[in-house]
Amino acid sequence: MTAEFAALPVVDLRSDTVTRPTPAMLAAMTEALVGDDVYDEDPTVRRLEEAAAARFGLEAGLFCPSGTMANQIAIKAHTEPLSEVICEQTAHVYLWEVGGIAFHSGASVALLAGNRGRLTAAQVEAAIRPENLHYPTTRLVCLENTHNRGGGSCYGWDDLAAISDVARQYGLARHLDGARIFNALVATGQRGEDYGQLFDSISVCLSKGLGAPVGSVLLGSADFIKKTKRIRKVMGGGMRQAGYLAAAGLYALEHHVTRLADDHRRAARLAAVLRQQPYVTEVLDPETNLVIFQLHERVPAAAFLAHLAQQGIRASSFGPQWIRFVTHLDVDDQMLARVEATLLSMEEEPMGAEKNG
Ligand SMILES: *Cc1c(COP(=O)(O)O)cnc(C)c1O
Repeated sequence: MTAEFAALPVVDLRSDTVTRPTPAMLAAMTEALVGDDVYDEDPTVRRLEEAAAARFGLEAGLFCPSGTMANQIAIKAHTEPLSEVICEQTAHVYLWEVGGIAFHSGASVALLAGNRGRLTAAQVEAAIRPENLHYPTTRLVCLENTHNRGGGSCYGWDDLAAISDVARQYGLARHLDGARIFNALVATGQRGEDYGQLFDSISVCLSKGLGAPVGSVLLGSADFIKKTKRIRKVMGGGMRQAGYLAAAGLYALEHHVTRLADDHRRAARLAAVLRQQPYVTEVLDPETNLVIFQLHERVPAAAFLAHLAQQGIRASSFGPQWIRFVTHLDVDDQMLARVEATLLSMEEEPMGAEKNG
């Protein structure tokens, strides 16, 4: 780290999961009323589950330790062995959950190539298996909004409604991986309350853009959530005085949703700066808080990341020449200015494979 930046905090653009609870969130956590949630006796967990369900027009919620667990519980509840899940080929539930659909549910996956992760109703309809002894039975359509690998892309309401209609028509369940659903709502102006009409279940992450330290909430009908509670238990996800964690989620729902617009503005700013750099060949239009871009072939991703690290900036590589920047609660305008200055300075001193040996 150079002397100039040595005393400055690290700007961590790797993910929106890296945030620390704010002092006000920590205060809400320490003041939480708690009980044993496996005995159904934690009032704060109950409040969080109810508040989250109400936000999405669904009846009930289940507080889970992670988004991965929330998604995998939902998939298991909607399917059985020898059935099939339709999802996009880079969907988190397929690509980044350790093959959990096969492991937990014994289900097959029909993978579709989306437009930045977004599927169409026609694609979904074409992937539904006709009845045939040789085929798995299509049971579930799983969408992701915003789409992580798609660079924080958002579905338009009409496209979601069309997919939901097709699924309903064929008797399929509909699950939404809403790890970043609040980013989508803030960016598009869609209402969370309307989502309950389109999906049987939704997972909502509290530990990404909302800034809570731990947890996701799985939402659905009262009957569905009753069923999922047993699956959470067998996965080892029954938690005891979890109200301390739920309190962070409740605080986040109340205080950290509208501010996501600041993250989106900062992501747009980073994209605009990146577009002007000769060492950047492509930048996916940032719709929310993720900026995915491709480096020129003369700039190895490892060298680029090392150069950022020298200035106290962290980012992640997302494929051979691709980098992802994520804006979040712990990235402010001052930090953004530092990132901009660093990106501009690289233009003057281009990095190269030769130079970096
Ligand atoms: C992060 C993420 C999840 C779940 O992540 P956990 O780390 O298990 O909480 C699920 N879906 C998407 C799209 C994500 O980005």
